[in-house]
Amino acid sequence: MSLAVCVRCGNSKVGAFTPCAGCGLDPAAHGTERELQARSVFLTDRYLPGGELEEMGRRIREGEPVTYDAGLLAQITEELRTQKLPIVSKVPAGLSIVVWTVVGVLLALAVGFLLMSRLRGP
Ligand SMILES: [Zn+2]
Repeated sequence: MSLAVCVRCGNSKVGAFTPCAGCGLDPAAHGTERELQARSVFLTDRYLPGGELEEMGRRIREGEPVTYDAGLLAQITEELRTQKLPIVSKVPAGLSIVVWTVVGVLLALAVGFLLMSRLRGP
């Protein structure tokens, strides 16, 4: 989890997609537009290291205009769309491990079966 700032009210929070305690904005909520999600990801210490994140939060809290890097936002939106960012992954890590274990076991069985049938052949 990274340090983040609410895109609507400038409140500090932990994690880009956690609901805001200040205004209740939930970037992960169903139906939330991707641009808002991209801005939520942008307003984290991942993209704004050092004091930049606090500065952005202060500006939002005081109603000052905040500029977003359009290119970076497009890149984040693309990452969100293709699910490259782990924070928006729909499949829990544990589930994919189970799936891959099953696939691995089935593959091993298939290879074993092939080898057995070859050994038994003429
Ligand atoms: Zn907020």
